[in-house]
Amino acid sequence: MPELPFLQVLADNVDAQVRGRTVTGARLYSVSLLKSFDPPLSALERRRLSGARRIAKLIVLDAPDLSLVLHLMRDGRVQIGAPRTRPGKDLALGLRLDDAQEFRVVERGPKKRASAYLLPSADLAGREPAAGLGIDPFDTALTPERLHEMLQGEPGQLKRFLTLQRYVTGIGNAYSDEILWEAQRSPFAGARRLDLSETSSLLEAIRRTLTRALEEHRAYFGATLPAKEPVELLRVHRHAGEPCPRCGTPIAEVAYAERETYYCPSCQTGGKVYADRRMSRLLK
Ligand SMILES: [Zn+2]
Repeated sequence: MPELPFLQVLADNVDAQVRGRTVTGARLYSVSLLKSFDPPLSALERRRLSGARRIAKLIVLDAPDLSLVLHLMRDGRVQIGAPRTRPGKDLALGLRLDDAQEFRVVERGPKKRASAYLLPSADLAGREPAAGLGIDPFDTALTPERLHEMLQGEPGQLKRFLTLQRYVTGIGNAYSDEILWEAQRSPFAGARRLDLSETSSLLEAIRRTLTRALEEHRAYFGATLPAKEPVELLRVHRHAGEPCPRCGTPIAEVAYAERETYYCPSCQTGGKVYADRRMSRLLK
């Protein structure tokens, strides 16, 4: 599932292409995509787009007092190009723009999980899907003290803490591994066990990891719209068996709760390698 670096570059590059354009036609091809009922998608027609931005893992198109909020989930993607002559099975939503381009939401595969919401911009923060979201990792209001307070409220492990969107937003299965590798912390350690100074280091690792990933994603994608997460931009996630970039120990992988976790047994878990079976017993 796309995470902050991918989605930020996507939002920035969509913004560069749609800002100032007027919507000349709006069409929903997959009825189940749109989760809001009022106003209808056609309310976007004849409106001038003021830009695109990212909130947490959401892509928001502002028009300008109406916002089209997209949650792409695993398989949803955004395209901008010449209008298709035939919609195709993957097409979920299309906006014709006054420069003869088409903004599209597409979703491949049988599982249609992406969603869209058309909402008054003023209501955004209080309504699905943005309601209840935590704080952006780059928000200056996220201080070590605030993060420490949040960690104290989470009974689960550090990895889980980082992926839950109610604390810090934009981080998922891949970047939680990247951040914990950077921080040299075990993904399986309890979130509550970090003291304030350790929390401060974790916050630095969060920002360092995401800043570097953003720079690398920008260089990799240029002005194009990201469609696939490049595995080569990840240090440990999906790199099982490869040498740790810091110490050379083979990266370990453990599957737990349908999620794969990757870590360096030397840098992060004090030499401990967790087997799937042992993990499940440990967690009971
Ligand atoms: Zn290592």
